[in-house]
Amino acid sequence: MNDTERRTQTNERRPIRIALPNKGRLSERALKLFEQAGLKAQFRADRALVASLGDDFQAIFVRASDIPEYLADGAAAIGVTGADLVAESGHADIEDVLDLGFGRCRLSVAVRDESGVQSAAELPAGTRVATSFPRIARTYFESLGTEIVIAPVSGAAEIAPHLGVADVIVDLVSTGSTLRVNGLREIDTIMISTARLVASRSALEDEVTRQAIDDLSAALESVLRAEQKRYLMANVPRARLDEVREIIPGLSGPTIVEVLDDGEWVAAHAVVDADQVYQSIARLKALGAEGILVTRIERLMP
Ligand code: AMP
Repeated sequence: MNDTERRTQTNERRPIRIALPNKGRLSERALKLFEQAGLKAQFRADRALVASLGDDFQAIFVRASDIPEYLADGAAAIGVTGADLVAESGHADIEDVLDLGFGRCRLSVAVRDESGVQSAAELPAGTRVATSFPRIARTYFESLGTEIVIAPVSGAAEIAPHLGVADVIVDLVSTGSTLRVNGLREIDTIMISTARLVASRSALEDEVTRQAIDDLSAALESVLRAEQKRYLMANVPRARLDEVREIIPGLSGPTIVEVLDDGEWVAAHAVVDADQVYQSIARLKALGAEGILVTRIERLMP
């Protein structure tokens, strides 16, 4: 019996450490997501940067940009951070486990409004690029066959082209309004990024840890899936059930529950896409439905 097996058998496994963003754009949503999945962070009064997350996990709170490094070092087995930050870290041994969908943005190349350049491929060798993503920027321009000069900045790259520090920037954009306000124009998208649940390869190679990560991923996914859905209930005339099935097909047909009347009515229940609720209600009402109820779903595992 090896060490791992012994610890498992005697229930002595240490909690798996997960690195979560301590502040910034991803932190609040990440913490809320874990809570929705039933893993509420319990902070120890004396250590605000460590918390237990259920029995199996311990959370450490660090900067989103440092999380790939913590995973590569083995200080944490799993983490939540942006795909852009994982790519920029250059650590090939960090794997995506689950796309969490939030924190969506794109890493783009932008030039000054008055520049005549229409795409990154037109930029000449020696172009100065202000960015806090030097690795991704260099690799991208290399793929275009252009050698660039990086002007490293740690934020607010938008100002650099106006100060003559750089010709273009490579920066994260979500709505594009910051670029516009700063007189810049996007000419290319290098990558689309979202927050990810990521794990180090070595953690995934340990069978027991892998199982815990898979279970965690399934729990988080069930929350994300449920957010897009609603549970719709309505009393409908029994005679119209064929149409009801068409309007709210649910996961495998609506659930039909008896109503204790003279047999004219039944209750139909089904999971519907959140963005279809309005339409479904209108159609159900048109065939005479009453007592319509719509609720949120906490978790959904089909
Ligand atoms: P933080 O620096 O901790 O606020 O986290 C920044 C991360 O949030 C980025 O690496 C992206 O993954 C994500 N993000 C989403 N939208 C944006 C945006 N408009 N600007 C910067 N970061 C964004």
